[in-house]
Amino acid sequence: MPLRKRVRTFVFVCCAFASSAGIALAQSAGPQPLPMPAQIAAPKDVPYAGTLQLDVDATDLDRHIFNVRETVPVRGGEPIALLYPQWLPGEHSPGGQADMIAGLTISANGAPVAWTRDPVDVYAFHVNVPAGATALDVKFQFTSAIEGNEGRIVMTPDMLNVEWPSVALYPAGYFARQIMVAASIRLPAEWQLATALETASTSGDTTKFKTVSFDTLVDSPIIAGRYFKRLDLDPGGKVPVHLDIVADRPEQLEVKPEQLDAHRALVQQAYKLYGSHHYDHYDFLLSLSDQMGGQGLEHHQSSEDGTAPTYFTDWDKNTDSRDLLPHEYTHSWNGKFRRPADLWTPNFNVPMRDSLLWVYEGQTQYWGFVLAARSGMLSKQQTLDAIAATAALYDHRAGREWRPLEDTTNDPIVASRRPLPWRSWERSEDYYSEGELIWLDADTLIREKSGDRKSLDDFARQFFGVNDGSYVPDTYQFDDVVKALNAVQPYDWAAFLRARLDGDGPGAPLDGIARGGYKLVYMDTPTDSWKASETRRHGADLTYSLGMVVAGDGRVADVLWDGLAYKNDFTIGSYIVAVNGVAFDPDRLTAAVKDAAHSSAAIELLVRSGNRFRTVKLDYHDGLRYPHLERDANTPARLDQILAPKN
Ligand SMILES: [Zn+2]
Repeated sequence: MPLRKRVRTFVFVCCAFASSAGIALAQSAGPQPLPMPAQIAAPKDVPYAGTLQLDVDATDLDRHIFNVRETVPVRGGEPIALLYPQWLPGEHSPGGQADMIAGLTISANGAPVAWTRDPVDVYAFHVNVPAGATALDVKFQFTSAIEGNEGRIVMTPDMLNVEWPSVALYPAGYFARQIMVAASIRLPAEWQLATALETASTSGDTTKFKTVSFDTLVDSPIIAGRYFKRLDLDPGGKVPVHLDIVADRPEQLEVKPEQLDAHRALVQQAYKLYGSHHYDHYDFLLSLSDQMGGQGLEHHQSSEDGTAPTYFTDWDKNTDSRDLLPHEYTHSWNGKFRRPADLWTPNFNVPMRDSLLWVYEGQTQYWGFVLAARSGMLSKQQTLDAIAATAALYDHRAGREWRPLEDTTNDPIVASRRPLPWRSWERSEDYYSEGELIWLDADTLIREKSGDRKSLDDFARQFFGVNDGSYVPDTYQFDDVVKALNAVQPYDWAAFLRARLDGDGPGAPLDGIARGGYKLVYMDTPTDSWKASETRRHGADLTYSLGMVVAGDGRVADVLWDGLAYKNDFTIGSYIVAVNGVAFDPDRLTAAVKDAAHSSAAIELLVRSGNRFRTVKLDYHDGLRYPHLERDANTPARLDQILAPKN
């Protein structure tokens, strides 16, 4: 899963807090807890008898509804619990959309069968299977989001994305790899699909897939669309790798030769890095749309990559999304194949634990950028600009004073990617990009200590490259990471990592930049990448001058904790209405900051918060400040070596 934020629905839960003050009554006189409901069968590593049949009709484009028919083999007279997947791989959180199931009916031998939802585990449905029944016929709809505030939009008039956990129930009591399922999909006429699943047969608009385990099904989503293109990314390679593209409009499918070359180089550079592959075939499922929700979700043999419709057609303006495919591809090695032991679960309703996401996501974030540079998806300068932006961000992360990085690995569960009012103080999923800085630190340290003979490339090959061809998850713990680092370069890696995971205080881990031969500096002009990002977002990112980001309509989109805007009572959602007496626009605000560097006059802003207006005078004269990496000639340019393509 990449750093990009998805808009998700969120729900406020009302809690009644009982004060203990003054309660001196005999405790036994008060209420006593009711026993919890009976446990749902824990998953066992034994085969489920029979094969589930799962048929999904994805043709109701107007209503965004997926109609599901499922046949679940059962033993008559034995109760069963059917589970809706809750803990989704790659999301690292209980993100299953049980609120979007409707119309659930169950029958056996043509007669209705009652179901009841478990009141504690609301993702479980209890069914008393009638005597004599051999199968349950299950029908329901997945009423997927119509508007973005309901969840990610996965169906548009021109494309769709089937994520199997949304459209399947499965029996409790078994490891997901022990439940076999034969799935089919019905698509709108003339649409084409792509998936890592292998086709068994096609009839009309319906495609039947070869029987796989429920585990593999959940790991094998589909994209389909009216406008579709499939490109071979490894012609003549050991195993097929394809780029499957759906787009809002046919002209968005046009891929220039140099763009195809960069995507092909990505595959070769990944092979040179890892020395292995962990799939029989791999499909990048790339959706280019401003109608369907963006996505980055990793799988063993595919990835869901949803980004801007102009990904190819405005290549130079979309540098922000250029690490998406390198990131998700890396996950086939780091995350799917090598997986943290506490994150692996036997089925999709056992809670995950996220303590090692600084490896799973942090090192993937690192290799995502390195592979983007090595393959030519990003230029060296664009990659340096991205590292500068990340370094500055975490160097100003006030929340580092109270919250250790490792604690942020709980964020997918704690915060579920809801918007945060004070991200720089609360912290967020910082293990991604602060993790990236830690791995740059480790890489350059290995290089320095080994006289530049060893590097994190050796770790990648030895840790992620084992068992070439296998995609059975190979789990690891903290000590395994330390051991593998020590095998590359002897050092007290446990202390190195613990200091960075548990430590706090100001200042980001920037030693990797220094050892890489660069310095983080601030200049009064932005990098090209920064400028392109501002232009695309139609806003002004003045984080390191005024301490805030302002959108094109004047809405304050982020406020840096303890920065100048914070000290002047700005919050997210305030609006800057006017700058020095003239109507707001982002360029006017930027120009005012620039001009104030040569003037003693304060910057005067008219600000609206709710229905209140006020005038704010910012006595700020330090000018515009944007992060850059500047070469330090006293240290070898290790960062240049890291970003150079491997031969
Ligand atoms: Zn990721």
